[in-house]
Amino acid sequence: MQEHKIYIDGQWVKSESGRTFLSLDPATERPIGKFQQGNENDVKKAIDAAEDAYHKWSEIPAPKRGEVLLKVAELLKKEKQRLGKLVATEMGKVMPEALGDVQEAIDVFEYMAGEGRRLYGHTTPSELKDKFAMTIRMPLGVVGLITPWNFPIAIPSWKLAPALICGNGIVLKPSSDTPLCAIELVKILEKAGIPKGVVNLVTGPGDTAGKELIKNDKVRGISFTGNKDTGEWILKEAGLKKVGLELGGKNAIIIMPDADLNLALEGALWGGFGTTGQRCTAASRVIIDRSVQKIFERNFVDRARRLKLGAGYDKKSDVGPLINKYALEKTHKYTLFGLAEGAKLLTGGRRFGSKGFFYEPTIFTDVSVNMRIAKEEIFGPTVSLIPVNGLDEAIEAVNSVEYGLSSSIYTNNIRNAFKAIEKIETGITYVNASTIGAEVHLPFGGMRHTGNGTREAGIEGINEFSETKTVYIDYSGRLQKAQIDVVKD
Ligand code: NAD
Repeated sequence: MQEHKIYIDGQWVKSESGRTFLSLDPATERPIGKFQQGNENDVKKAIDAAEDAYHKWSEIPAPKRGEVLLKVAELLKKEKQRLGKLVATEMGKVMPEALGDVQEAIDVFEYMAGEGRRLYGHTTPSELKDKFAMTIRMPLGVVGLITPWNFPIAIPSWKLAPALICGNGIVLKPSSDTPLCAIELVKILEKAGIPKGVVNLVTGPGDTAGKELIKNDKVRGISFTGNKDTGEWILKEAGLKKVGLELGGKNAIIIMPDADLNLALEGALWGGFGTTGQRCTAASRVIIDRSVQKIFERNFVDRARRLKLGAGYDKKSDVGPLINKYALEKTHKYTLFGLAEGAKLLTGGRRFGSKGFFYEPTIFTDVSVNMRIAKEEIFGPTVSLIPVNGLDEAIEAVNSVEYGLSSSIYTNNIRNAFKAIEKIETGITYVNASTIGAEVHLPFGGMRHTGNGTREAGIEGINEFSETKTVYIDYSGRLQKAQIDVVKD
């Protein structure tokens, strides 16, 4: 079995720990490679390399840095099929989604390459004569990127591309469930000509390799996507670093009686069972008006039962496996919570097959907002149908959880649509589309406990990886005092 290395200062090396771990194909439980269990010393070296390298990188004009990013996008395009197959094998998602994961990376590198010709600050009049005022962007310095497994190419890219265009030095610590995807991505960055030391990659456990990144004083920014509890811990431990957190979700689709019910059905299936429910934007709740509950339930269950479970790389599969044994156990634990709390199980509720981490698409109905399956993130193929009477009750139900990432409403009534947009407290709201479908040129992120207010992607994504410098240029040739001098004609 191939042993993979970590990438420090432009060299592929073994970890100082002398230890390795395995990454498994979640459909077969077969190992796909051996990976370095990076430790604190590896991370320290990676941080030092990034610190040395970023000064030169940031001196390269941003449009030139953009050219390197464009090269990354071109190489990703060439390698799309191979990388898609790798995503399907290591993470488990079905091929069309795995290719989408790579496409998102292509999109963000292209988008951020263009950002190299903007990186806008703003200019504004000064309150004094003969004085010029503007803002410019500066890199943070060394940034730590800590990523999950569910978008193993896209999420690291969502962070790498803006961090690079802003001129930072980087240490990437990917999830131990998908280290090979991160390694292959970094090899593409290397091939595209990112100078040595600018991007470093350390695989290994969160509580050693990840922790060093959080604690190390040379690191100026942390961009983390993952679980809420990990995110809260990071925020406490990171001291005065700039921290961006993209955490969990408990997203909901509202279905009004005036909706196109067929369209809503497609949206609920895609939102609930796409990526086996393992998206931060997954529609794990469907809030349904009681007047259409029965007919929707019947059709939803019928279609869910027809979904074909199988390995992501098998063309016949509609739904892939869960990521690991822990996820399988967690999903089943929530089935037991649902039953114990009195929800009605309409379909699923058990493991599928004996090899691989497959779980049947699971639908509960007559779920109330206080039940754990309606409140907590399961991150599996479990959808809770919550019946309500009318829009006000529906919106109240959407807002009854601690998270606030994505939401959706199916309605043909413009007043319902705008009321939902206005009242739902989530970072993203879709109208007549599922809770899934972010595009890289718009901001992405959530309200409430989904994060700490930062946004990724789009122009706002640049903020996480840059500092604003305010510049005053006084060309009056005399001492001028803001707020004190009175300007005369
Ligand atoms: P996780 O928090 O377990 O792990 C994420 C990363 O953090 C991994 O690389 C892990 O090794 C690292 N880590 C763990 N403990 C750490 C520590 N003490 N210090 C530093 N690093 C540490 O999350 P996961 O299971 O990989 O991902 C699933 C979660 O991610 C879900 O909650 C999902 O909603 C969330 N997610 C959010 C978004 C978003 O944009 N809001 C996108 C995708 C996934």
